[in-house]
Amino acid sequence: MNKTTIKARRLPKDPGPAGWNSLLPQRSPYPALDTDLTVDWAIVGGGFAGMAAAHRLSQLVNDDSIVILEASELAKGPAGRNSGFMIDLPHELTAESYTGGHDEDMKNIRLNRMAIRFACEMAKEYDFAPGTVAPTGKVTAASTEKGLRHVMDYKQHLEAIGESFELMDHKQMHSYTGTNFYHTGLFTPGAVMIQPAAFIRQAADGLVNKKGVRIFENSPVLQIDLGSSTHVLKTPNGRVRARNVIMTVNGHIESFGFFKSKLMHVFTYASMTRKLSAEELQRLGGSADWGILPADPIGTTVRKVSDFQGSGDRLIIRNHATLNQSLEANPANMARAKRLQQKSFDARFPMLKGVEMEYLWGGRLCLSLNSVPAFGELRERLWSACCQNGLGTVKGTLAGMMAAELASGQPNSDYLRDFMQVEQPKRLPPEPFLSVGANSVMRFKEWQAGLEL
Ligand SMILES: Cc1cc2nc3c(=O)[nH]c(=O)nc-3n(C[C@H](O)[C@H](O)[C@H](O)COP(=O)(O)OP(=O)(O)OC[C@H]3O[C@@H](n4cnc5c(N)ncnc54)[C@H](O)[C@@H]3O)c2cc1C
Repeated sequence: MNKTTIKARRLPKDPGPAGWNSLLPQRSPYPALDTDLTVDWAIVGGGFAGMAAAHRLSQLVNDDSIVILEASELAKGPAGRNSGFMIDLPHELTAESYTGGHDEDMKNIRLNRMAIRFACEMAKEYDFAPGTVAPTGKVTAASTEKGLRHVMDYKQHLEAIGESFELMDHKQMHSYTGTNFYHTGLFTPGAVMIQPAAFIRQAADGLVNKKGVRIFENSPVLQIDLGSSTHVLKTPNGRVRARNVIMTVNGHIESFGFFKSKLMHVFTYASMTRKLSAEELQRLGGSADWGILPADPIGTTVRKVSDFQGSGDRLIIRNHATLNQSLEANPANMARAKRLQQKSFDARFPMLKGVEMEYLWGGRLCLSLNSVPAFGELRERLWSACCQNGLGTVKGTLAGMMAAELASGQPNSDYLRDFMQVEQPKRLPPEPFLSVGANSVMRFKEWQAGLEL
């Protein structure tokens, strides 16, 4: 592809309300772009990668002008739809999935921790509300024999790379979560939990208070005309002439014609209960705030949150994944997620029988076959910080920072050197084999996960 005009063939569609964002006070979005602007930097997409790119640029080239163009409203897209685990360790360290060597793991952990530190520094600099970012660590938990084997493999690999952890028995798991469901847990201290929508909103507000940074919402980029000294980005009612462009649209980079047949577009889904009453909270017991990742990677993530800014105590359940190469989830996907999540909730929280789910939503992830980002300079002065391979709160932050460093010319950054020492995304099997195959494998693994789901 060597065109000088690049069109967006698809725009993001996010199914169901973004639960975390719906809990927060109403806000007025930043205006939609309705004029012609000339800037040094245009960032396309206002998720984790977009915020991180803008923040890093503001540190590196602080006299330059920066705009962020977001198709939808901030925190209504995937950035405000996730479970809020910022994870420092390689996600899957089980025997079945463990392929990386020691050096590869250490490199990834160092990069992830640097990105988490960067997010925490942003929270401090922009004075985020208490509870938006909490360095609580995470627990990987098991409820079956198979889950236990995963936890033990995980433990073994943590020992091999010299990482600290704590095993939790059934009693400890019960007093942590209130449920008898989990018989073993493995606590690792380096993860940070966030209220993702609050994070994105406050990052955006912090950024626009800086000299030279502007944000436009409801301003999808429909076309980019590449030029020799500036590129022109067209939105429905305005245009931005920018010397440099950083694309932070995750899987939608393919909608602009890049990385064709190299990116997998996976939806995953979540439900959130209504506010729990004082009596329900007493019946539940456990800690005020906790998070569980499943030992079986296809299993269920659960979070309990206490009253963040008056939004009440609630439980959040995430499971189910579907490959939707159209970048759209359908009503049948949502209906199945709803059924599976109710089942998972009932199995874990029999003491809360009858508590309804107030929100159900889905959100896009972008994966590559070889788990590498879609990163780099795609055209002269047009960079991509996309494809976060699932863990986008950290990987998106990292990719955004690294794109800002690469684009502004930081040849001495050893983080950037490490980050760029990866292959390009590999070509996927052709359709319909890819979608049929991947969805069948995921359904089979869900069935195999049994109670862990
Ligand atoms: C239910 C669920 C649970 C998850 N849990 C976790 C978790 O616990 N931990 C974790 O790390 N990750 C989790 N994720 C994944 C995480 O949310 C994503 O990986 C992350 O949001 C990716 O960040 P990003 O900035 O790269 O992309 P996004 O957050 O997708 O942001 C890209 C933005 O670009 C905008 N955009 C797209 N096209 C255009 C255009 N043409 N013009 C302008 N803007 C455009 C979109 O509207 C979007 O806001 C979860 C995801 C879901 C759905």
